[in-house]
Amino acid sequence: MDLTHSPADEAFRAEARAWLTAHVPAGPLPSLESEEGFAAHRVWEAELAADRWSVVSWPAVYGGRDAGLLSWLAFEEEYYAAGAPGRVGQNGVSLLAPTLFDHGTEEQRARVLPPMGRGEVIWAQAWSEPEAGSDLAALRSRAVRTSGGWLLSGRKTWSSRAAFADRAFGLFRTDPAAAKPHQGLSYLMFDLRAPGVTVRPIARLDGKPAFAELTLDEVFVPDEDLVGEPGQGWRVAMSTAGNERGLTLRSPGRFLAAAERLHRLWRTAGCPDWARDRVTDALIGARAYQLFTYAAASRFLDGESLGPESSLNKVFWSEYDIALHETALDLLGEQAEWAGTDWAEGYVFALAGPIYAGTNEIQRDIIAERLLGLPKGRR
Ligand SMILES: Cc1cc2nc3c(=O)[nH]c(=O)nc-3n(C[C@H](O)[C@H](O)[C@H](O)COP(=O)(O)OP(=O)(O)OC[C@H]3O[C@@H](n4cnc5c(N)ncnc54)[C@H](O)[C@@H]3O)c2cc1C
Repeated sequence: MDLTHSPADEAFRAEARAWLTAHVPAGPLPSLESEEGFAAHRVWEAELAADRWSVVSWPAVYGGRDAGLLSWLAFEEEYYAAGAPGRVGQNGVSLLAPTLFDHGTEEQRARVLPPMGRGEVIWAQAWSEPEAGSDLAALRSRAVRTSGGWLLSGRKTWSSRAAFADRAFGLFRTDPAAAKPHQGLSYLMFDLRAPGVTVRPIARLDGKPAFAELTLDEVFVPDEDLVGEPGQGWRVAMSTAGNERGLTLRSPGRFLAAAERLHRLWRTAGCPDWARDRVTDALIGARAYQLFTYAAASRFLDGESLGPESSLNKVFWSEYDIALHETALDLLGEQAEWAGTDWAEGYVFALAGPIYAGTNEIQRDIIAERLLGLPKGRR
């Protein structure tokens, strides 16, 4: 692994840093899990997009900068170090876009990607169902063939920010007679304001209506919104998991910045001895995660695919995030109880880390079976 950045990567980093220094809002925006905050974050996305900083790794023709993986990682480090706002378009940018790059048509890429990159159309992920979370292939929502398209019916749940988003993508059963649960599924995009869609906001632990349950009653979707071939939805959805852009879920930049913040908090609190090891662990953990990610990126650039190693990343960052926030709350003592402190909010969100993006129990099964070669457990 060569960790030397090229002069071009360094120049890219410097340009990003200068732009962020000049543009990052002085104070925090309202929470993007609220209607008002969601709108404010769209404005920020437009500002990023105006100077082509919103989707740096995309081809220029769709609004990106054709940045390579290492430049993208450098950009993320600068982004978090600058304390820039959270990315409201994340689901579309990190999940749907890679799927369209791999399986979409040229027409779909030209139609969907530019407004996604500018934050004008925000996408929600509609995969989970009341009886299909970890066992996603158990999903029951269906798409029935009709003239010029498909009619979607069923229920989707835990859809992040779907209460405020514009469109969604999900898997639907198109062949109920298929031999296995993950066969006969199709990957479709749909409008959250289309006739037949009911969006019911669900409050999170912090009270913000950040989730939604979607009820679909014969929602018409034109053929142009089917991604990949009918019946190939599972392959389409899974092919992007664990690849280059699978890294985008939690870039090391986020934890490097959080560890630095924790270090500053510890110093402000008078450098108490009892927290020394925990703060040191946080600093070392962020650096270790950064190096692990760079190693993965370097293997990817050598033509290898990333596969099940991304489960190691996922378990690591989700447990790391909780430990880091617990240390911060202990340092803050009774002040941590004040509603609205960044650290308290961050802690509540960190608690969800071992659940979303595939629970850690499932990730550990993948690590055991596919990385360590242990026998399959009884299910
Ligand atoms: C903050 C957050 C955001 C989310 N955003 C979205 C979103 O935008 N779109 C979306 O579609 N979904 C979203 N989800 C849903 C998420 O993907 C599911 O919660 C997750 O897949 C787990 O599914 P479940 O809740 O049905 O739990 P279950 O699958 O019922 O699991 C319950 C428990 O049983 C364990 N378990 C289940 N099966 C096994 C097994 N085979 N071996 C060992 N243990 C097992 C699980 O690990 C878990 O601990 C989000 C969830 C959270 C917390």
